[in-house]
Amino acid sequence: MNATSNSVAFYDIAIIGGGPVGAALARALQGSSLRVCVLESRPANTASTDARALALSYGSRLLLERLGVWGQLQDVSAISTIHISQKQSFGRAVLRAEEMNVPALGYVLPYPALQDALTASLDATETLFGASVTSLNSEAGHAVVGYRQDGAEQQLHARLAVVADGGKLLAPQFPPTFEDYGQSALITHVTCAAPKPGTAFERFTTQGPVALLPYKNGYEIVWTASHQRAEEMLSWDDARFLSELHQHFGDRVGEFLTAGARSCYPLGLKKAPALSPMPHTLLIGNAAQTMHPVAGQGFNMGLRDAWELAQLILDAAPEALSSEEMIASYARRRRIDREAGIHFTDGLVRLFSNDLPVLGVGRAASLTVLDCLPFAKRFVAKRMMFGANG
Ligand SMILES: Cc1cc2nc3c(=O)[nH]c(=O)nc-3n(C[C@H](O)[C@H](O)[C@H](O)COP(=O)(O)OP(=O)(O)OC[C@H]3O[C@@H](n4cnc5c(N)ncnc54)[C@H](O)[C@@H]3O)c2cc1C
Repeated sequence: MNATSNSVAFYDIAIIGGGPVGAALARALQGSSLRVCVLESRPANTASTDARALALSYGSRLLLERLGVWGQLQDVSAISTIHISQKQSFGRAVLRAEEMNVPALGYVLPYPALQDALTASLDATETLFGASVTSLNSEAGHAVVGYRQDGAEQQLHARLAVVADGGKLLAPQFPPTFEDYGQSALITHVTCAAPKPGTAFERFTTQGPVALLPYKNGYEIVWTASHQRAEEMLSWDDARFLSELHQHFGDRVGEFLTAGARSCYPLGLKKAPALSPMPHTLLIGNAAQTMHPVAGQGFNMGLRDAWELAQLILDAAPEALSSEEMIASYARRRRIDREAGIHFTDGLVRLFSNDLPVLGVGRAASLTVLDCLPFAKRFVAKRMMFGANG
């Protein structure tokens, strides 16, 4: 760390938010000569309590391998097949890893396991835990980050502030475009009578998609429903929950036997108005775009944000870190992948989550066409694994 004349700490890069995306960026910069710090509001040595499971794409595995983190992840379950169907319709499509020439289409693991492995990999990066960022401003030549730690207001300066806080800090100043899908995702772990190891299911219904992600002895469920219905589902006893799930999902994995703790996440599409809303500042991960979890794109996209930004930073001279040229270059490199990811998830939600009869026929037809055309399958699978720049 350096100090400016008035003793305010000065860094090349300040990463606001040490969630999975911010931590991945810090990891990618580790070993460079840059002075990097991560500000994370979670206290030190406390595991994340986030209950969601993440489906990582094969492309994310490759990036995590390059970051030296993949090998540290315990208890990861592979997805070898993805079965996509529409409730009350004949259409379906099946994507298989062997058809795509990859060992797996993706992998499932709990958010905290990924978070812990990334955090543990940051041994050489200055990480300020329990540091809640309260303000971000720009002055000539640097960003000014205000934060509260141990009850005291503090400040640091950085050539470039990267906002990876999930999207709250700058929202009041630079409101994102927001579309409420009117849906929440209920998540839990279930076991069932006839699991299909390695097979993930994405089943579209007119109330929203339900996903079963294979994990250990059962499935991680992401069940989308209206906010009100999801709240009701939280209050059901296990027997009712399991039988309603069976009715909703169908018989492909037999009866559901046990369910773990349930939690709910409201869903919407949020898109920051700009990737650099003010000088010396860039947004990555959910701070830049928060998408519907259908097709499991959010973290995978955020990891590509972090990776591409790290490459630009490592190629730049320190004094050019937040130059107009570099900021424009980052926005250019992320534009196509970001727009494609947003349109892909948004399009899926809109096409498959309504009960217009004319769309019902179109949906069935599109799944059947997808299933019959190898190049269409490869296109979709490649998008899901590597994004639009892959
Ligand atoms: C139900 C559900 C299922 C999902 N499933 C998938 C999936 O299968 N695959 C996938 O790729 N994506 C999935 N996602 C999306 C994925 O969870 C997110 O895209 C990902 O967590 C974004 O990571 P992030 O680091 O950008 O933000 P976050 O995970 O929100 O992390 C932000 C971090 O910043 C910290 N922070 C916040 N504010 C401050 C502050 N003011 N100061 C300091 N620190 C701060 C937080 O403590 C946190 O550690 C899912 C999302 C949901 C809701």
